[in-house]
Amino acid sequence: MKYFNPEVETLPLDKLRQLQDGRLQKLAAYLYTQVPFYRKQWDEASLRPSDIRGVNDLYKLPFTRKHHLRENYPFGLFAMPVAETIRLHASSGTTGKPTVVGYSRKDIGIFSEVVARSLVASGCRPGMKLQNAYGYGLFTGGLGLHYGGELLGMTVIPVSGGMTERQLLLLQDFRPEVICCTPSYAQRLSEELAARGISPEQLNVHTAILGAEPWTEAIRTQVEAGMGVKAVNIYGLSEIIGPGVSNEDYEERGTGSYIWEDHFFPEVVDKDTGEPLPEGEYGVLVFTTLTKEAMPLVRYWTNDITSIYYEHSEKRTHIKMGPIRGRADDMLIIRGVNLFPTQVEDVIKDFNQLMPSYQLIVSRDGAMDSLAVKVEVKEDVLRALGRPNLQQPPAALPDALRTLHGALGRKIKESIGLTMAITLVEPGSIPRSEGGKLNRVLDLRKSRN
Ligand code: ADP
Repeated sequence: MKYFNPEVETLPLDKLRQLQDGRLQKLAAYLYTQVPFYRKQWDEASLRPSDIRGVNDLYKLPFTRKHHLRENYPFGLFAMPVAETIRLHASSGTTGKPTVVGYSRKDIGIFSEVVARSLVASGCRPGMKLQNAYGYGLFTGGLGLHYGGELLGMTVIPVSGGMTERQLLLLQDFRPEVICCTPSYAQRLSEELAARGISPEQLNVHTAILGAEPWTEAIRTQVEAGMGVKAVNIYGLSEIIGPGVSNEDYEERGTGSYIWEDHFFPEVVDKDTGEPLPEGEYGVLVFTTLTKEAMPLVRYWTNDITSIYYEHSEKRTHIKMGPIRGRADDMLIIRGVNLFPTQVEDVIKDFNQLMPSYQLIVSRDGAMDSLAVKVEVKEDVLRALGRPNLQQPPAALPDALRTLHGALGRKIKESIGLTMAITLVEPGSIPRSEGGKLNRVLDLRKSRN
C-alpha cells in the first residue's frame, strides 16, 4: 500500500488545478451567501464571487487573520447553523479567548481522510497499532489522529499526552508499531527510555509521527536513534482542519511535507507586503480551504514561516512545504538581527558533544536586548572528563569544554550574526515537554513589564 487515495494523490497537475478551480468557484459563491463577514469584506473590495474563476484569482481576495476569528468569537464565521455541525474544537490560545472551529459530518470525513493519507505516507498500514500521545480534548491533535487511524484500519491506543510512565509501559507491553506525539515529547521519551536502560530493540515501534511545533534535523537524529524509529513530520492547524494539512513521506524524509492541496490550497506571501512569493521563497504560509462546509477560510494567514515547492517526485504530484522555521511572532529581533529559535538548534546539531536540548533567554540589558543560550553537554562527554563542575566560568572549564564553548560561540556568530552568552549545562537540566508543545524561549523582557 503506497497511498490512501491513489487517484487524488497522484492526480496530474493540470487535473488537480481544474479540481481546485471548480471547488474554489463553488466556495466563493457559498461563502458570499452564507457568511456576512466575507460578503462585507468582498463588497468593500468591490468583488463578486464570479470574479473568482480559479486559484489564480485568489490574490484578489483579502486575507483572513486570527483577529478576525477572535472578533467573530465564538461562531460568527460559521457558514452553517451550529446545530448542523457535529464537533467543535478550539486552539489553545495562550492569551485571551481561544479560536473556535466547527466541523460538519462531511468535514470530519475530510479530516479523517487527510490524516489517513498522512499516516500511509508516514509508513503506517492497516493492522498496525498507533499509540496516540497527542492530547485529547479541544486540541485537534488527539481526535484528529484518532479518527484518521481508525479510518485507515489501524488499532488506535488513545493514551493522550503526558503520563510518561504509562507511555513507556504501553510501548513495552502493547508493542505498537507507531507512536505520534510532539517532537519535544518524543525527545523526552527517548531520554526516559535511555535512563531506564530500555533499548530500542526491546520495542516494536518503527515510526514516530511528530508535529504541532517546529523541529529540526537535530531532533530527528536524536529521536530516530533514541527510539529506533523513522521520524516523520505532520503539520496542521485547527483553523484549517487540524493535523494532516501536510505530511512527510517516510521514504522522502527531509525533503518537505506533501500538502493535500485538493483540500487546502497553499500560498506563501511576503510577511510585510502580503504579495505572493515565487516557489521556494520563504514567507508566511496562507491557506484557503477548498472543501470545508462548517467553517471554510479564505486566504488564512497562518503566521507560519516556510516555503513551498513542487518536487516532481515520482510518488505524488502535490506541492511540498519545507519545515516551519517558526511563527512570525516567535521571531526574535535582537539588536536588529532577526532570529528563529530553530536557527540555534541548527547550529547545535553540528556539535556531537551537545544534546539538541537548549533554552534561549532574552533579557534587556540597559537599552539593548541580549540573548543567552543554555545547552546541555552529553552525559558520556562529562563522564569521560570526570564530571567537571559546569557552574564555573568558561575559562576555568577543562580544555575540551573550553574549546567546545569557544567553537559554539564562533559558529553561532558566524551563521546567525549574533554574539550570545553561552552556558554549558548538565544533561537533563533544561525543562522537558510534559506531553504537549514546549516553549524553548524564556523572555525575561515580558515578565518585567
Ligand atoms: P495553537 O495556535 O493553539 O498552537 P494549533 O494547535 O492549531 O493551535 O497549532 C497550530 C500551529 O502549530 C501551527 O500554526 C504551527 O505554528 C504549529 N505546528 C503544527 N504542526 C507543526 C509542524 N509539524 N512543524 C512546525 N510547527 C507546527
